[in-house]
Amino acid sequence: MPTLTDIFAYIEAHRDESINRLIEYVSRPSISAHGIGIGETAEWLTTYLRNLGFDTEAYPTKGWPMVVGRYHRKPGKPTILFYGHYDVQPPDPLEAWVSPPFEPTIRDGRIYGRGAGDNKGQHFAQLLAIESWLKVGGELPCNVTFLLEGEEEVGSPNLAEFVTAHKELLMADLVITADGPIHEDGTPQIEYGVRGVLSFELHAKGANTDLHSGNWGGIAPQPLWKLVHLLSTMKNARGEITIPGIMEQVAPITPLERQALDNLPLDLERTMAGVGMTELDGPPEVPFYDRIACRPTLTINGFHGGYGGPGSKTVLPCSGFVKCDMRLVGGMSLAACEAAIRAHCAAVDPSIEIIVEGGMEPSRTPLESPFAQPLHRAIVKAQGVEPYHIPSLGGSLPDYVYTKILGIPAFVVPYANADERNHAPNENIIIECYINGIKTGAALLEELAK
Ligand SMILES: [Zn+2]
Repeated sequence: MPTLTDIFAYIEAHRDESINRLIEYVSRPSISAHGIGIGETAEWLTTYLRNLGFDTEAYPTKGWPMVVGRYHRKPGKPTILFYGHYDVQPPDPLEAWVSPPFEPTIRDGRIYGRGAGDNKGQHFAQLLAIESWLKVGGELPCNVTFLLEGEEEVGSPNLAEFVTAHKELLMADLVITADGPIHEDGTPQIEYGVRGVLSFELHAKGANTDLHSGNWGGIAPQPLWKLVHLLSTMKNARGEITIPGIMEQVAPITPLERQALDNLPLDLERTMAGVGMTELDGPPEVPFYDRIACRPTLTINGFHGGYGGPGSKTVLPCSGFVKCDMRLVGGMSLAACEAAIRAHCAAVDPSIEIIVEGGMEPSRTPLESPFAQPLHRAIVKAQGVEPYHIPSLGGSLPDYVYTKILGIPAFVVPYANADERNHAPNENIIIECYINGIKTGAALLEELAK
């Protein structure tokens, strides 16, 4: 077995080659939203993984294929499932790019091109890490499965079904995703979870037609007031969700999570000034990062009904609705949240109809996971920096397919710079971040194999 020093030396010696090969990969358009170049890119990846010696197949789905490559030759050693996505966002608006999106260009130590950061530069770094091990030592220290999706940028519509139907193929001890940015201060981070989301509408009805607010005011029921009254029982002025059965689901913050949350840097003034905020939502006593990582939310996305035009119109509208979303955290489930909301609405105002638009389960891997320390050590060995530990991102990604369908711990270890401009013009990856990604990927294999 080679040492990590040998592997790092190999990675350093092949720096330029690694850069040129990423440039070649990024120059292949693979825009899932427009169906451009996806099949060809899946084929290119399949060939690449086969040449590495992985048992590889591109599995068709109702959408774009899932490329799965497996190296399972280390009985008794752990199996790592690496997830990435080979599709990219559409590059529009084209005129805002300094260099064309599919003609990757190096400027100021960065590779510019659509997919450079999101996500080609990141999963390709992981692939080159694997390749480095194979080139230097002829084998990997543990088992590896690579899952590359072609529909992440259109919401992963077939991922859950694919994972459910291929549990045995994909089963592993843990899953690692290299996606998203590292911290804006340049510190690497390990992310243990994502919030879920439940989207729903509340519809209120009154008479069968809009009415005169003088002739009918005081007689006809008022749908918009009904909604106001109901909403006021769902979240109070302190900012607390008051629907019975919601907060009860929230997983308590573990001691390691407490420590990790308290360790995250915060410049509250700058954060608030950045978006022009002069106050925070409640409750006031909840620390900043707890709000994002460990608390559910109830947001009114839109309140619709009645007259909103110029001047006055003394109308008594006959209907109205609100669109809401609830962000779910560890311990919570879509089914339990929907049931709690339905029960609460039925108790407060049974005339209001609830329409659930859709949702995504939350995912949380405890920081107490036995894989957390090996991941931490791998980052320190590769980059010489202690990573932040983020118990959960505020947004929603389909990590639940691993933690809930496969039942394995899931970690996100991003390699891209915070200003990668993913989804925007002039997407880029800092070359140093990319090379650090290859080294970190190599170190992960060794640390996890222990
Ligand atoms: Zn993306």
